[in-house]
Amino acid sequence: MPARQRLFSGIQPTGVVHIGNYLGAIRNWVRLLESYECTYCIVDYHAMTIRYEPSEMQGRIQELAAVLIASGLTPDRCTLYAQSELPEHAELCWILTTIAGLGELERMTQFKDKSEQDRDNVNLGLLAYPVLQTADIILFKATAVPVGEDQLQHLELAREIVRRFNRKFGPVFPEPQAVTTQGARVLGLDGKAKMSKSLNNYIGLVETPAEIWDKLRPAVTDPQRVRRSDPGRPEICNIYALHRQFSAPDRIHLVERECRSAGIGCIDCKKLLAESLEVEIGPIRQRYQALRADQEQVIGSLRQGAERARAVAHQTMDEVRRAVGLRE
Ligand code: SF4
Repeated sequence: MPARQRLFSGIQPTGVVHIGNYLGAIRNWVRLLESYECTYCIVDYHAMTIRYEPSEMQGRIQELAAVLIASGLTPDRCTLYAQSELPEHAELCWILTTIAGLGELERMTQFKDKSEQDRDNVNLGLLAYPVLQTADIILFKATAVPVGEDQLQHLELAREIVRRFNRKFGPVFPEPQAVTTQGARVLGLDGKAKMSKSLNNYIGLVETPAEIWDKLRPAVTDPQRVRRSDPGRPEICNIYALHRQFSAPDRIHLVERECRSAGIGCIDCKKLLAESLEVEIGPIRQRYQALRADQEQVIGSLRQGAERARAVAHQTMDEVRRAVGLRE
């Protein structure tokens, strides 16, 4: 059997994991375990490029690790670790900054957006963010990277940096390729903006059914459905978009039909969604709660992942240091 391709992806410890993160990344990461040798990284170095509270960082990392493991990213199925456990990420990033161009980094859409969002904190790390991402991927010589549309620009830059490195120092790295996944982007409960912690328009992945219902109940639906008897338009309703992600096909079909004919009210439709959500995320919450009660298990899993990742990173960095002339 041919060796499986190496796949790498990272997620920031932002404090809350919501169902937007789950649909956009985590659910796919679990699916990708079937076909790839997967390394998943909690990217705490990246998280330092925006304002954060240092005393909260470790708690966030452990919280996120518990959510990821509870979702199915267990140590027997993948390598999961915290980025700063391997300073090789930072070392390789530095080497790559010497071949990355200032102009190309300044042109990155994410850099421009984040610079706009916080004009008093436009730091060098924010500019070098895609260089660190490149280092993250190639430290493992990963050839597969699951990316959403918003990250395609960074992956293209990573590929360019790899080509440049190989031309200058010799063929050390394979060019990473994008893996197109079925990741879905859902709007927040306001029905307007992307689901996010900062906009407080999210459903937490491990929130209780009661907490979820408190948020779902007032969530925005089709604004044309003023009265219960008004027919609705599921195609513009975010609750229907969530049904499409979490409900079984017959329920999705029923919601669509009954919404258009005003056969179902929005509250009942949301109750059905809450049920569907519970079927998928209820078991994750239960495993998460068990892990939070046994924090040593989470810390042990991260340690085990870091050891496995370190072995690969050491090998790569030996090769890199020799290639760039820092070792005999
Ligand atoms: S019935 Fe459901 S899909 Fe239709 S508008 Fe209400 S919440 Fe949205």
